[in-house]
Amino acid sequence: MAFVEFEKVSKIYHTGTVEIPALRDATFQVEKGEICVIVGASGAGKTTLLNILGGMDTLTGGTVKLDGRDISRYDRRQLTEYRRRDVGFVFQFYNLIQNLTALENVEIAAQLCPHPLDAAEVLREVGLGERMKNFPAQLSGGEQQRVAIARALAKNPKLLLCDEPTGALDYVTGKNILKLLQDTCRRTGMTVVIITHNSALTAMADRVISIKSGTIQSVRKNEHVTPVE
Ligand code: ADP
Ligand code: ADP
Repeated sequence: MAFVEFEKVSKIYHTGTVEIPALRDATFQVEKGEICVIVGASGAGKTTLLNILGGMDTLTGGTVKLDGRDISRYDRRQLTEYRRRDVGFVFQFYNLIQNLTALENVEIAAQLCPHPLDAAEVLREVGLGERMKNFPAQLSGGEQQRVAIARALAKNPKLLLCDEPTGALDYVTGKNILKLLQDTCRRTGMTVVIITHNSALTAMADRVISIKSGTIQSVRKNEHVTPVE
């Protein structure tokens, strides 16, 4: 049994009378502790896939299992519980609360979940030990993304979902963020799924899933993962 199992997952959006198929019979698996990258053109269905996996959207058909649990049969209350307890999210534009410090941003997210890690400790781990009392506007883009990653990690999630985590960063800063994700994944055994256009990311991934017009084109397992330097 794989950690993530998508079995013939379909998603159709209805806008008025128009039906938009966003996923068609998507089947793939991700093993525990892997870094999995999702690639594909704009509109291919990457965000839909990530949202379904994160319990933020429902599916039209098929089955999604996480760690053996069939999350595709969860009701709204169970999905909310699942998002809070099991999933950490990292977005392109950080989504930090501007009038809270880095430390407070991490603390407030951890409060809602059952097994939080120590916020200050996690901030030290992502290299922000000296910046905890800063507000987001006083931090660089790369530092803000580190806070966002710390916020997700402090929930101590089983699964970390990232949507273009390096999309707003320059190449070198983006690479440092990748290194952080790779180190974290290796250290904690957490499973990470990342949407990206950054080709440096596909070289460091354990698994690369390519999607086109809602259809999984290929799933490639990397036997020799490049460590990010
Ligand atoms: P990607 O993340 O790869 O750019 P998306 O998952 O966002 O792709 O979108 C896949 C398809 O579903 C696109 O055709 C998009 O227009 C459509 N879509 C996404 N979200 C919605 C929505 N809320 N309502 C209607 N159509 C949507
Ligand atoms: P609530 O029911 O408390 O409003 P949600 O069910 O919306 O919370 O979200 C539960 C968890 O999912 C949150 O702890 C958060 O980490 C994550 N989450 C979902 N959507 C987002 C988002 N757009 N930005 C940041 N975190 C999100």
